[in-house]
Amino acid sequence: MPAYHRRGSGYRGQRVPQTIRERLRRRMLWSNTILIAIAFLGFALPPLMPLEPDARRLTIAVAAVSLVAWAAFARRFPCPRCGRDIGGMFGNRASGFAPSGRDDKPTDRCPHCGVSLDEPCP
Ligand SMILES: [Zn+2]
Repeated sequence: MPAYHRRGSGYRGQRVPQTIRERLRRRMLWSNTILIAIAFLGFALPPLMPLEPDARRLTIAVAAVSLVAWAAFARRFPCPRCGRDIGGMFGNRASGFAPSGRDDKPTDRCPHCGVSLDEPCP
């Protein structure tokens, strides 16, 4: 039984099921928060602090590694139906955190399998 089934309280069926979009939106929210934290700690703060050059390089290296880990894990959100990634830029647009351009695909469906994001999450 995967860990995410532990979520929530109360009896099964009493809660309104969450839609894919709601889960995606929550994931994107903390993904963006982590990104801002990494950017701030790694790149904005060190120039303001009286760090040794070595310590500064280390801070930036740690931030760079965190950024790679973020891109590999936190940025992603697998579609509950097809398992392909619908996070990243698409997730931000679907959540309303990023504007959609004129040429962008609509964000009401998974771009891979076409499942509606307003379906309850399985
Ligand atoms: Zn899909």
